[in-house]
Amino acid sequence: MAIQMDDLKKITGGFDETAQMPLLFVGHGSPMNAIEENKFVKGWRDAALAIQKPGAILCISAHWETDGTLVTAMEKPRTIHDFGGFPKELFEVQYPAAGSPELANLTQILVKSAHVYPDENWGLDHGCWSVINRMYPDADIPVVQLSLDHSRPGIYHFELAKELKALRKLGILIIGSGNIVHNLRKINWNNPDGGFDWAEEANVGFKKMIQNGEYDKLANIQEMSPSYRLAVPTPEHYNPLLYILGLKEENEECVFFNDEIVLGSISMTSIKIS
Ligand code: ZN
Repeated sequence: MAIQMDDLKKITGGFDETAQMPLLFVGHGSPMNAIEENKFVKGWRDAALAIQKPGAILCISAHWETDGTLVTAMEKPRTIHDFGGFPKELFEVQYPAAGSPELANLTQILVKSAHVYPDENWGLDHGCWSVINRMYPDADIPVVQLSLDHSRPGIYHFELAKELKALRKLGILIIGSGNIVHNLRKINWNNPDGGFDWAEEANVGFKKMIQNGEYDKLANIQEMSPSYRLAVPTPEHYNPLLYILGLKEENEECVFFNDEIVLGSISMTSIKIS
């Protein structure tokens, strides 16, 4: 029996076939980037302007770690202000993008190696909205988040991402939001625009490994030299990168932007893959 249009729409969540969408990894840094005007915000905005308008966004944020892998499935995700000690103005920001139960469902269908659980409680955390509100200020594109299972090693995230490749041909923009170098304990408030030697070394080294496609190495951070382990003392800001690399096709190129280290120990390095 021929496949009916309605059946096809069920499989594709109603999203139309498109040219392959690019991938973005975004170094998000301080939540203040949600309301400040600076070169990093400009970098995000320029990246968005160079991409055809997505039908929906799937975001893997450093700030949603869970037991198991979850996907936000609500119609209207709330804006989560998951930080403290920032100005009132930042707490007042709302990002009223719709959710997409259809994209959540599609994500669950595509991932066969793990059970992806639908979530009705989370919403959009600042790793997601502080970046996306600068890229798409009209909040007219549905946004879904995929969580990071904190019990799993790097290779789990890298391999799971591969199963989501079909989304790229359905107009879905997939964004990993974290920081490749991120060590809050080592922050140097006296050096807002620079990095420690180990942070610079790790940032350069990571970029080389990414360009060379050394994914086995990148997925095994614990086996790297001390500079890298200082750069990634905990994996949550790094793992969103592994999703973006897992989704990359062999013939695609990586372009780095916002490639700077701030406060000694946080790299804003961002990547567009297309
Ligand atoms: Zn963060």
